[in-house]
This record gives sequence, structure tokens and C-alpha cells, in this order.
Amino acid sequence: MYDRFERKIEYLRISVTDRCNLRCEYCMPPEGISLLGHSDILTYDEIRDFTRVAVSHGVSKVRITGGEPLVRKGIVKLVEMLAGVHGINDLSMTTNAVLLSDFAHDLKNAGLKRVNISLDTVDSEKFREITRGGDLRDVIRGISAAREAGLDPIKINCVIQHTRNETDAIEVARFCMSEDLEIRYIRRMDLVRGYFSVVEGGSGGDCSACNRLRLTANGKLKPCLFNSIGFDIRELGYEKALHMAVDGKPECGSHNTTGTFYNIGG
Ligand code: SAM
Ligand code: SF4
Repeated sequence: MYDRFERKIEYLRISVTDRCNLRCEYCMPPEGISLLGHSDILTYDEIRDFTRVAVSHGVSKVRITGGEPLVRKGIVKLVEMLAGVHGINDLSMTTNAVLLSDFAHDLKNAGLKRVNISLDTVDSEKFREITRGGDLRDVIRGISAAREAGLDPIKINCVIQHTRNETDAIEVARFCMSEDLEIRYIRRMDLVRGYFSVVEGGSGGDCSACNRLRLTANGKLKPCLFNSIGFDIRELGYEKALHMAVDGKPECGSHNTTGTFYNIGG
């Protein structure tokens, strides 16, 4: 699948829930969010069937994200269902890892290849502050479990304010070095103003090379994180939504005033 600007579209990120067991200060308001209704959320069958269509048109990389994907009931089943879609050669998940020690082995057995884990600081007090109540030890346990389960590579997503030379980012980098983990820096975005961000060491933010589509938890197919457009896969049908999203993918992102990370999935 190529879009109007000759970009080959081969990467689908699927947000499976808008719920989360943390409240990161840059992602969610402290009081929580108005949660989508149960019937608004795509079922696993719908996600698998849409993914099949996307794969039949050239998608080969799929990432499961959220909200926090591990809080959605039966997530291992979804991984198994997606792993069974012929043509996906890279199946990954982005998680805060709080519950990963419980799930890592089952996820691996179900067909997950690798994980990205969010970690902005290795100071437990700061971690509690940033996540509004999270326990760093859970994440460390989750990382160990992922390694033991053979999820590989394990990448760490580290949100920075401005540069990778900030104290927390340096300490996270040191931790990654000692644990043999890859680190990716993500510049913190101001979601209210929809600020554009380049991912240092990652492929995001480079519009000319962008190969992604995003499916939100309630079934909107979004061609660009930095744009408010989305195509409803239930209303339009899977094929039509897919073609409209690919054809409607903007040449370059500007800003998104309606989106939030816990729905779109980052
Ligand atoms: N809950 C999972 C997690 O935290 O890894 C997956 C979903 S989370 C929305 C996906 C990524 O978006 C995380 O790495 C998180 O750090 C990032 N993110 C959330 N809000 C952000 C913001 N305002 N600016 C930059 N990155 C953000
Ligand atoms: Fe939850 Fe991830 Fe958002 Fe943090 S960044 S509040 S872990 S969805």
C-alpha cells in the first residue's frame, strides 16, 4: 500500500483500551478520564478482522498499545489471534510493564516478539510522582520477566522534557546500558497545543518516512498522530476505512487538537 506521497504503509499501531493503571502527568489528568463505553471498544474479533484486511494490503508490522494494553481482559488471547494472522512479521507491544511480570511468559507463548517499556526515571520517588502513584519495583520486575520470557529486543521509551542530557534521562540510559536494553527518547508533547515531536533514536516524527496507521480503541483509523482526522472502521467498513486513511494521510503532521495518547496510543 502506497499513499499519495509514495510512502509505503506497512505499520499498524492498535490501541486496545483507553484505560490505564497509571496516571502519567503528561498523558492523563489526575482525576482520570471519561472512559469509553464497553460497546464503543472494538472487540478482539473486530481487531483481528481489520488487521487481516490491513495485512492483505501490505501491513507487516503490528504494535499493540493503549492506554495500558495489559489491563484489558484477555489480552493474551488477542496476541494469539494476531499472531495467527499470516503476513505479520513483527508483533510488538508498548506497555508500562506494571503487570508484565504476570504476563510476559504467556505473551511470548502466544506469539508476541518484543516489547517497548515506558520508563522516564529510575528514581522511585520521581517515578511515583510522574506516574501519580506507580511503584518502580513493578516495572523492574516486569523488565526481568520480559527478558526471562525471551521477548527480544526490549526497548525502553524514555520521555524527556527537552534533551537526553537531563538527569533522569542520563540515569535511565545508564540503567539501560547495565541491563543491555535499547533506549529511545521521546520528547514530551504538550497535548493541549498538539506540539509536534521528533523521537530521538526512533522513526517517529520524520513525516517523509512515516509508514504508520493508528487504530484507536473505539475504531477510528488515524493516518497521522499530529492531525485530528480519523476514519470509523465500523461505519465505513474495513476496506473503505483503510483506503480512505491511506489516501487521506497528510504529507506532514501539523497538530492534533482532539487526540489524547491514552486513546490513540502514542
Ligand atoms: N501505557 C503504555 C505505556 O505507557 O507504555 C502504552 C501507551 S502510552 C500512551 C505510549 C507512549 O506514549 C509511552 O511511551 C508514553 O511515554 C508516551 N506518551 C504519553 N503521553 C505523552 C506525551 N504527552 N508526550 C510524549 N510521549 C507521551
Ligand atoms: Fe498510562 Fe501509558 Fe499514559 Fe502513562 S503513558 S498514563 S502508563 S497510557
